[in-house]
Amino acid sequence: MRVVVLRIGHRYVRDYRVTMHVALVARAFGASKMLLASDDPSIVEGIMEVNERWGGSFEVESIGGEQGRWLDAINEWRKSGNIVVHLTMYGLHIDGIIQELRNKCKDEGKDVMVVVGAEKVPRILYEVSDYNIAIGNQPHSEVAALAIFLDRIFEGKELRINFMGRMRIVPTARGKRVLDMSSKS
Ligand code: SAM
Repeated sequence: MRVVVLRIGHRYVRDYRVTMHVALVARAFGASKMLLASDDPSIVEGIMEVNERWGGSFEVESIGGEQGRWLDAINEWRKSGNIVVHLTMYGLHIDGIIQELRNKCKDEGKDVMVVVGAEKVPRILYEVSDYNIAIGNQPHSEVAALAIFLDRIFEGKELRINFMGRMRIVPTARGKRVLDMSSKS
């Protein structure tokens, strides 16, 4: 199953840090790509730098900020038979949906687009999504919501992905141990 994240509502400069965290979580927790509904190239560049050091092939594509652009991306995704999930505190609790969603992906070979907002999202998003899912029905953050959604859909296996990066962490009880695979010795 392939998971692609769609980040909407990104405000240039102001949202850099949160959107970068959405991208970092998407990459580290098993998504293969993030579509960024904005023209901000800094997120694309930031993730390329992360990949260069830490590996993997996660990609960010800037698709422009107009509503028509991200709606087209959603409609195309659905037209090819795949599933759109919108994460929102107003949706149905994840506990009641996740099994059905996982089964659909496994049995019918479907991929998932998961949409997260910034501020208030346009009403139409609730209508064009196959599922409006709440990670609990309290307001929190797109970063937290995405992390928990990915962990639930991948059943924890995403934390064992081997990114085969140039820089590799050797887990230690204290301190930091990092191997640079490109250095000769
Ligand atoms: N009140 C806003 C709204 O109308 O959705 C909350 C915006 S919140 C700062 C930004 C994003 O975080 C939301 O668009 C949604 O994707 C995500 N989010 C926040 N709380 C969530 C929750 N409990 N469940 C799922 N997603 C959530």
